[in-house]
Amino acid sequence: MSQKRCKYEIDEEEDGTTMEMLQLGAERTKNVLILMSDTGGGHRASAEAIRDAFNLEYGDEYNVFVKDVWKEYAGWPLNNMEQQYKFMVKHVQPWKVAFHGTSPCWIHSMYLAAIAAYYAKEVEAGLMEYKPDIIISVHPLMQHIPLWVLKWQGLQKKVIFVTIITDLNTCHRTWFHPDVNRLYCPSEEVSKRALLDGLEECQIRVFGLPIRPSFCRALLSKDELRVELEMDPILPAVLLMGGGDGMGPVKKTAKALGEALFDKTLGKPIGQMVVICGRNESLVSALQQHQWNIPVKIRGFEKQMERWMGACDCIITKAGPGTIAEALIRGLPIILNDYIPGQEKGNVAHVVDNGAGFFTRHPKETTTIVVEWFSSKCDERERMAENALKLAQPNAVFDIVKDIHELAAQRGPLADIPYMLTSSFSSLI
Ligand code: UDP
Repeated sequence: MSQKRCKYEIDEEEDGTTMEMLQLGAERTKNVLILMSDTGGGHRASAEAIRDAFNLEYGDEYNVFVKDVWKEYAGWPLNNMEQQYKFMVKHVQPWKVAFHGTSPCWIHSMYLAAIAAYYAKEVEAGLMEYKPDIIISVHPLMQHIPLWVLKWQGLQKKVIFVTIITDLNTCHRTWFHPDVNRLYCPSEEVSKRALLDGLEECQIRVFGLPIRPSFCRALLSKDELRVELEMDPILPAVLLMGGGDGMGPVKKTAKALGEALFDKTLGKPIGQMVVICGRNESLVSALQQHQWNIPVKIRGFEKQMERWMGACDCIITKAGPGTIAEALIRGLPIILNDYIPGQEKGNVAHVVDNGAGFFTRHPKETTTIVVEWFSSKCDERERMAENALKLAQPNAVFDIVKDIHELAAQRGPLADIPYMLTSSFSSLI
């Protein structure tokens, strides 16, 4: 990918910036506003990954806010995206219609323009409260409206706006806005789609999906983690989850594994299981009431996923990009047991075609694979674990923040951006 300057980067002369001003600007703590929504768990995880990497790399140079500005400042439907998303993805047909029906640019642009016009002042107030020098969107619905607000404020040339795509392959076209300064794509496949949608090569960077730095740092060994997490020290362990909301056939699969991992002839378990239900509280209580013959840990939303992944030997999950990318970094072979139509469909091929795991929707087939991985087919599990590590991109998050830092350095003094609340927005969109 070409790294040459383009019109989306402002050079010093064009901006009237002197070296002295650059130094002044560099001294001030810059505000970074990361726009995300808790639709699933992946957008927040990517946002926190970027925030943590900024802190690790640049300390006090940046003040990073992770915010769902829509929820805090706007009205319906923007402030209710989590519930709407949960409902839609559980009902496959309406979701497919919504995903593919809103794909043409003129349709989603009109829809977002209408919403923007209606909530213009609220959204503007939300964005401007943080006086951002840099805005980072990690959500497909957070390019159009903020970019209109910047245009309205006359700040398009002052505030840096970048998008970080958090879908690995078949992402929605609302991610691709031609006015961003940078578009960070997690894969070449996504960057090809962006080029087809009119972005220029110089806007695009392909570093991988940003994963929380805690996944990339040296961890405790598997043995140490198992002691810390009070797991069986010897038995092989399978991690079962369904994204941030505990989606997919988790309950059925957990029960099937509970049976299959108990060897009736020997009268003892041949494996153990960790089930992470995320924010799905009813799943936690249903599984807690079940009688298990094998060692089982049932957890709600976990903040340190890297520890659970580090303590296990394989993972069963829906095809969420965040969980897949994390499992690859931890070298876990993956069984994908579901995917959300549209944005997660392409993730299945990413895992299966690269030999890092299997796809099956049937809990019985899933348990057969796990039992074999823990007994007669250990070598297959190890081979897939090696393939997983080959696909991992643990440094993507650092590459992205370094690139944004360079972009900020080119931008000159970011101090004293003249934010103001203006009145007429709809005339501009
Ligand atoms: N996650 C987490 N704690 C949990 C469950 C999930 O931190 O208890 C994280 C998980 O590690 C991953 C994200 O939530 O980073 C889920 O993202 P993914 O893209 O896999 O699926 P989504 O939930 O967005 O559909």
